[in-house]
Amino acid sequence: MDDAGLVFTVLGSGSLGNCTLIERAGATPILIDCGLSPRATARRLASLGLSLDDITDIYVTHLDCDHFARGWVKRLTTHPISVHVHMRHRTRAVRLGVPGRHLELFEDTHTRPDGTHVEPVMLAHDGLGSVGYVIEHAGCRFALATDLGRVPAAVLDRFVELDGLAFESNYDRTLQLTSDRPPVLKRRIMSGRGHLCNTEALDAILRIDTQSRLAHVALLHLSRDCNCPTIIRRLYAERAPHLLPRLTITNQTVPSGRHPLVGGRTVGLQQLALF
Ligand SMILES: [Zn+2]
Repeated sequence: MDDAGLVFTVLGSGSLGNCTLIERAGATPILIDCGLSPRATARRLASLGLSLDDITDIYVTHLDCDHFARGWVKRLTTHPISVHVHMRHRTRAVRLGVPGRHLELFEDTHTRPDGTHVEPVMLAHDGLGSVGYVIEHAGCRFALATDLGRVPAAVLDRFVELDGLAFESNYDRTLQLTSDRPPVLKRRIMSGRGHLCNTEALDAILRIDTQSRLAHVALLHLSRDCNCPTIIRRLYAERAPHLLPRLTITNQTVPSGRHPLVGGRTVGLQQLALF
């Protein structure tokens, strides 16, 4: 067994669908969010040598269709996958038709039977909010937060000693303000209960980096209309050049690379074959 305790891969991220694969040493792979259709998810898993049959659990940040694609309701009738939903989202999950035998509700931090520690962090987003996660397995800590209108103290308090981080960086403020989007949409996005702009995300990531040992940072959920990887790279070159070598800007169509974590240092590619 090589040193990697956990490997994360963002299969896709953006307003058309979000899904992150977590591979765990000695345990089955799980997903955070299933906002890509089952077919698209299967295709992207296949590019990594996996199939839907390998996935046992999905942890959901919230149930908007870009995080829980509706095609999964039908797919769950034939695949024995547990869907983990925060109690706050229970009514919505039932209304959407998530079959009761697949629905696993949680409210607080818990340790799974396979040893993975799961720590939910509540985030402000629209009516019901979103859930961030700290996932700890085999000595590695990974955290993900997306669809958060602002960075609550709980994120900064609990996103500590991380080896890997996936964090929303939704929009560039100038592009948002000057876009031809309806004012009501701009207000929703920028209200503190919508999405994070690039500088808000960077401020949080810089803080988290000082209290962690981040080997990889993946930026999530870039707005198609109001963001651009070039702008983000320029921002990081100016304000956080030390993060650039560890930074991945995810997109909607192509999975990110596999990001192996091992207590704060990356694993060589040759070791991945052993994972
Ligand atoms: Zn979203």
